[in-house]
Amino acid sequence: MKIICIGRNYTQHIKELANEKPKNPVIFLKPDSAILPKKIPFFIPPFSNDIHYEVEVLVKINKVGKYITPKFAHTYYNEIGLGIDFTARDIQTTCKQKGLPWEKAKAFDGSAVVGNFYAKEEFNINNISFQLLKNNEIVQDGNTQEMLWKIDELISYVSQYFTLKKGDIIFTGTPAGVGKVSENDILTGVIENKQAFSIKIK
Ligand code: ZN
Repeated sequence: MKIICIGRNYTQHIKELANEKPKNPVIFLKPDSAILPKKIPFFIPPFSNDIHYEVEVLVKINKVGKYITPKFAHTYYNEIGLGIDFTARDIQTTCKQKGLPWEKAKAFDGSAVVGNFYAKEEFNINNISFQLLKNNEIVQDGNTQEMLWKIDELISYVSQYFTLKKGDIIFTGTPAGVGKVSENDILTGVIENKQAFSIKIK
């Protein structure tokens, strides 16, 4: 399986990183080795001094698809989840300045937290409320209605470039409030009042 991530999909987050508003969705990939195994803490890697959390709504693809139209995109997923796109912001900033790819900043081991998935019928897809709590305080508070590109548009766009396969996961972008993690932090993800994950930072 592969993980497809969307960058810059929420206006307030684009502003907080002083990025340009993109004309098309920004896409990058993480390998399956990036997935943090369940019940394992996230260990801050030695190569970064600025690991950021980014809470994101996840979509699990349920069948093979290519050139999917937005109208039929909803038939390519049954489950919605919540996760974290951990980012080595210091490395990403250097990569951006030099025009280099982002993989070292985005695709390292443990950088993809994949929390619980739930049946899509439990949600109103374009109005899903989700939060990230750091040590029991809300640090990110988003809603899918604030997305620049909605979930079905993202599936369509991504499938123009990459064949989607059963089990692939799309990280749909982070709202504002990203920040640095420190040792002993506890990060808890909540989607429509359901706790999707709780991760300890080591
Ligand atoms: Zn992200």
